[in-house]
Amino acid sequence: MTLMKSWVASANSADTPFPLNNLPYGVFSTGNDAPRCGVAIGDMILDLARAEETGAIVLPKPAFKGSNWNAFMDMGPAIWADLRAQLTTVLGENGNTALPLVAQSDARMHMPFAVTEFTDFYAGKHHAMNVGTMFRGPENALPPNWLHIPIGYNGRASSVVISGTDIIRPNGQTKAPDAAMPQFGPCKRLDIELELGAIVGTASKLGQPVSVAQADDMIFGYVLLNDWSARDIQAWEYQPLGPFQAKAFATSISPWIVTPAALAPFRTSTPKREVDLLPYLHEPKPMLFNIELAVTMAPAGKAATTIAQTNYNEMYYSAAQQLAHHASSGCAMSVGDLIGSGTVSGPEKSARGSLLELTWGSKDPLTLDTGETRTFIEDGDTLTLEGAAKGDGYQIGFGTCTGTIKPAPKFLA
Ligand code: MN
Repeated sequence: MTLMKSWVASANSADTPFPLNNLPYGVFSTGNDAPRCGVAIGDMILDLARAEETGAIVLPKPAFKGSNWNAFMDMGPAIWADLRAQLTTVLGENGNTALPLVAQSDARMHMPFAVTEFTDFYAGKHHAMNVGTMFRGPENALPPNWLHIPIGYNGRASSVVISGTDIIRPNGQTKAPDAAMPQFGPCKRLDIELELGAIVGTASKLGQPVSVAQADDMIFGYVLLNDWSARDIQAWEYQPLGPFQAKAFATSISPWIVTPAALAPFRTSTPKREVDLLPYLHEPKPMLFNIELAVTMAPAGKAATTIAQTNYNEMYYSAAQQLAHHASSGCAMSVGDLIGSGTVSGPEKSARGSLLELTWGSKDPLTLDTGETRTFIEDGDTLTLEGAAKGDGYQIGFGTCTGTIKPAPKFLA
């Protein structure tokens, strides 16, 4: 696969995240207009609501009257392929130059889909080993179930926000190891988790499991996902039911949904199994993707420093395996379900996808390019995730997923 040419000039570059090969789906607005569906192409957005109204894009029934992609997702994979084929034609070299385009610089991005539910997994082995070592010691680092089950917890859909939304530092209950009593107040160990989010595009029925192959077909697309984490709250609350308030306050996602069709040339298998998985979790074909990921940190008003670089291909379980496991009990999966991959960390120190790991629990502070040091996130800091699959003379970019930390609210006890 090489760069596919578009009549939109800015799409024909090795550097654009959004060439014709990509065609990611988002929701945007300009001025005081209502948010509507669009497709990124180069530095422009194709206004799909207008394109559908004018007959430039025709689906079996209208899909873009609303302000998110849920109605379109529910139409299923045949219609997903239909739209991509039409877009590839009309935005191609000999396409329709009368299409309604809007400059991305004039647009504001909104949540691309209504998040029905959010589940976060823990499927990166390097991350699980690092965190487990810090929380429980090296001999108990990997829980006994970890190599057999993609471990997850049911998170909150209500606090999933679009990139660019300020993140308010949470208050919570914490307890220092040597303290007699816990205390309540602003989180002191605020962290990121570099993840990929998979969006469920077709529902499964209550009581009906799905195979890993079926699960792979149910995934509408992927976004960058920052699972903001309050480590001091987490350490006190997490046993025995897992994270709760430490993760419930905010999750950020990038605005553009990158489709499996765009990522197809970058499919890769999960790493070699250390113990055989039970048959219901077997991967029938490569289901991870080779996606380069990075994190930057910028103190208020200052330049950003890259603090981590890794790759989604490090994950031990794919989103399809996680989804199949999720539905295996009979749990119904809905259109708009968001599945967090778990923190993506590589084997090297520079490839760790959380500050907890990068600073080894604050024992080894980071020095930023500005000369400042950090253990965890301070008020005013901006954390940004970036991601792209790199092809031959083109890339499938995700854009960015960013958030700036605001002080914790005063809490009147
Ligand atoms: Mn997470």
